[in-house]
Amino acid sequence: MRIDIITVLPQLLESPFQHSILQRAIDKGLVEVNLINLRDYSTHKQKSVDDYAFGGGAGMVMTIEPIANCINALKGQRNYDEVIYTSPDGEVLNQKMSNHLSTLTNLIILCGHYKGVDQRVRDHFITKEISIGDYVLSGGELAAAVICDSVIRLIPGAISDETSALTDSFQDGLLAPPVYTRPAEFNGWKVPDMLLSGHNANIENWRHEQSMERTKLLRPDLLE
Ligand code: SAH
Repeated sequence: MRIDIITVLPQLLESPFQHSILQRAIDKGLVEVNLINLRDYSTHKQKSVDDYAFGGGAGMVMTIEPIANCINALKGQRNYDEVIYTSPDGEVLNQKMSNHLSTLTNLIILCGHYKGVDQRVRDHFITKEISIGDYVLSGGELAAAVICDSVIRLIPGAISDETSALTDSFQDGLLAPPVYTRPAEFNGWKVPDMLLSGHNANIENWRHEQSMERTKLLRPDLLE
């Protein structure tokens, strides 16, 4: 898998890919993540990538030329499955979407800034718009990092115990059950006896019941 992230702040996105599961997936060659500085595609003297909004009003708008130059240059080298724009009015990211994205080969993610991008970028270049929740960020970089993290960890081989990604919350439409580790007792607070019983089948049933209860209590909408 290859993910090309177009951003005006490539440095902001370096750290998320230099640690833990994402770094290992990159080192193993399961995914290639390229941070592309949008300013490199600006033909403007000052390398500017934004301008005042037509019609007036507060806030700058990202111009279409550098974005078009950049996306066209990338598309000249390979086919892309999706050209994603991070946007608070996009489809809200969920596990199903991440599962699907993890099966694709080449992705572009465009990070917005200021008041967002010229609408013509969205109309003519973007194939998918993703929000990471109903709140507004200053830029699309953190959203891109969230999307990449949720997607890359699903690529087979990214997590050493592959079943572990499949038993996380949402994969079966339920929240994950509670987990415990040593010590079996702390401050008089005991780990549930069932988990120490050694009966795998019973433990699996117990975990499923716990998942159901937790989901009913915290996210009944998932059961509808
Ligand atoms: N004026 C826009 C917000 C711009 S915020 C509006 O009201 O809808 C600047 C940029 O941050 C956006 O272009 C987008 O790329 C990113 N962004 C902000 N909130 C986001 C969210 N919830 N999900 C994904 N990207 C977001």
